[in-house]
Amino acid sequence: MIKIGVLGLQGAVREHIKAVLACGVEAIEIKHKEQLQEVDGLILPGGESTTMRRLIDKYDFMNDLIKFATSGKPMFGTCAGLILLAKRIIGQDVPHIGVMDIAVERNSFGRQRESFEVDLMIKDVAEDFPAVFIRAPHIVEAGGNVEVLAKHEGRIVAAREGHILGCSFHPELTDDTRLTNYFIEMVKEAKSKQFA
Ligand code: GLN
Repeated sequence: MIKIGVLGLQGAVREHIKAVLACGVEAIEIKHKEQLQEVDGLILPGGESTTMRRLIDKYDFMNDLIKFATSGKPMFGTCAGLILLAKRIIGQDVPHIGVMDIAVERNSFGRQRESFEVDLMIKDVAEDFPAVFIRAPHIVEAGGNVEVLAKHEGRIVAAREGHILGCSFHPELTDDTRLTNYFIEMVKEAKSKQFA
C-alpha cells in the first residue's frame, strides 16, 4: 500500500486529494514537515508559487522537501508546483526546490489567454487529456535526462525526469484521473524498488 501527500500550504490542495482518492489510493494533506516521512510520493499543487515559497520558508519545509526528492521519492508539481520544482526560473536569480533540470517561464501564455482548456496528447498517459491552464508557466528548456511528455503550441507543458513529474496545467480540476494515476504508478514503482 502506498500513501500520497499533497503539500497543503496554499493552492488547489483538496482537489488533488480528491483525485488521488478517486484512484483508490490513500492521500493526506501535508501541513507539517514531519508528515513527509509518512508518504511515498508528494504532489505540489497549483496556486501561486511566490506565496507557496513564502510559506515553505515560514514553516521551514525547504530542506525536507529537497531531501524528499533527492532520496528518490516521486514528486509531481502542477502549475505553480512545476515552478517550485524547476532548477531555473526565467527572470529570477534563484530557484525554489530546484530538483528538476528545466527552465520555466511564469505566466507564459499571455494576457489574452490567461485561462483556457485544451485536449492534449500526453505520452504514455492519454491521446486527449482535458488540460486546464490558469496563468500557466511553460518549460522553456529541458535537460538531457528530461523526457518531454506533452507540448501545446510547440511549448513543453508536461515532462518527467526520472522520479520527478511536472506539468503546466491542472489535472486535478477535471474528473480525468489518468495523469494522477500515471504518478501513482511512478510512486508504486519507486516503492517496490526501495524494497527490492
Ligand atoms: N501564475 C502562478 C505562478 O506563477 C501559477 C498559476 C497556477 O498555479 N495556476 O506561480
